[in-house]
Amino acid sequence: MSVKIPVSPLVCLNFVNGKFDKASGEKYQVLSPYNGKVIGEFNASTAAEVNAAVASAKIAQKEWAATPLKERTKVMFNFRQILLRDMDEIAHLKSSESGKSFAEGKAGLAKGIEVLEFAIALQNMDLGGKVEVSRGVSCEYRREALGVVANITPFNFPAMVPMWTIPIALTLGNAYIWKPSEKTPLTSMKIAQALKEAGLPDGVFQVLQGGKETVEAIIDNKDVKAVGFVGSTKVAKAVFERGTQLGKRVLALGGAKNHIVLLPDANPELSGMGISDSFTGCAGQRCMAAAVLLAVGDVDKHIQKIYERASSLVLGQDMGAIITKPQLEFLNKAIANAEKAGAKVLLDGRKAKAPAGMEQGNWIGPTILDNVSPGSEAATLELFGPILSIIRCKDISQAMEIENSIEYGNACSVFTSSGNLAEKVIRMASTGMVGVNVGVPVPREPFSFGGVNASKFGHGDITGHQSLDFWSNVKKVTVKWEKQDDNNWMS
Ligand code: NAD
Repeated sequence: MSVKIPVSPLVCLNFVNGKFDKASGEKYQVLSPYNGKVIGEFNASTAAEVNAAVASAKIAQKEWAATPLKERTKVMFNFRQILLRDMDEIAHLKSSESGKSFAEGKAGLAKGIEVLEFAIALQNMDLGGKVEVSRGVSCEYRREALGVVANITPFNFPAMVPMWTIPIALTLGNAYIWKPSEKTPLTSMKIAQALKEAGLPDGVFQVLQGGKETVEAIIDNKDVKAVGFVGSTKVAKAVFERGTQLGKRVLALGGAKNHIVLLPDANPELSGMGISDSFTGCAGQRCMAAAVLLAVGDVDKHIQKIYERASSLVLGQDMGAIITKPQLEFLNKAIANAEKAGAKVLLDGRKAKAPAGMEQGNWIGPTILDNVSPGSEAATLELFGPILSIIRCKDISQAMEIENSIEYGNACSVFTSSGNLAEKVIRMASTGMVGVNVGVPVPREPFSFGGVNASKFGHGDITGHQSLDFWSNVKKVTVKWEKQDDNNWMS
């Protein structure tokens, strides 16, 4: 299905205290990657507006945290029903602002709903625990909300990445401040509307539009107790440092340069499809996309399959567009640079045709570069587009040496039919997530999501069980009601 793109600009607003309101800072425009047209506009939130939103969230949070978990969960269950009802509408909007295909827009929201289902299940899973540790003395864990928490999200998943944290942080009893990407702010209004309709009390969920200054004002506000961030490594590091210097809890996920190790014994059909879909899905604009193919030994017939599948994709239907014109220029330049550095362009996305009527959009086709040298720009720099760099390797050891030399640590996959060789790659990979015969090894709920090294600053993961300790405190309670005869050191 083609993406429905707004024909006139939508006015994108803040959502504070249950009401949509215009902010008063710098004016921004939202351009659709599909046709280059203005589809939205908004004003950034000033520091005064940030502080007012945090102050009202702080008041609303107290009552929300005092609401029993099972009642909070009911709101989340309503939220799920509304998202399922409005899924197509939200998928069209998020795709039109981020450049995704309609199917990708829907898939992203579906993954966000899985996280929501994990949060809904917390009422049955997260039992805390109480033990009689000494005669008449018990110890108990109680999970408590932090207060007001914030999250800053990137352009490439306008609903899924926010939905990694919104349901979990809210279900745990926090008030939540969301600063969406200034490139893809429109979807945030749909999420806010859905939470209001679901019955979330006003002030518990606030959306503040804006860019760098708005982010800094959020981090600097003393009542924001924890900051989640997803975006590029440069900004992740800056946000982590600013927040931790103020003594805050920060989990900041950064960029990536993911590797796939392709071994000659791999199933050619499975690897052809898995690797092609990995580097072309979301036009390569996802932090789990394959960027480098470590081709071990003779894998030419597998590469032929990758080529056939990638070259058959139709722009505008099977693959979407690139977020901005400068990013498109950056990708074109990166291909030219790789060619100059000695790579062979097997498939040239620069020659791909824009869909009819969308010539002003940001289009590039799948690109495969062969004989890329380790250490070169195409082998090490995060390009964030549908470009696969093939590095030829003589054996697994050489492949893993290259993989280990990269600063990032999000994902690594291996395609093979050997359990032993797969295990070797799993052990040697310097990443937080590893796949076997899976091109995009995103863990499904309840397994948590997160990389290592320059792909993540802070401890724990952003979803799953590993995220619970980030969005809450565990209080340890020791209780005695009566004097016991057999006194010991606990008595
Ligand atoms: P970005 O870093 O430019 O922006 C992310 C967010 O930070 C936005 O909300 C933006 O407004 C804000 N921001 C930008 N500059 C800032 C500054 N100087 N100070 C404070 N805030 C600032 O990232 P992007 O271009 O929107 O997204 C693409 C990047 O995100 C890629 O590097 C991709 O790998 C990464 N990403 C990582 C993951 C992951 O799970 N590790 C997931 C999705 C995207």
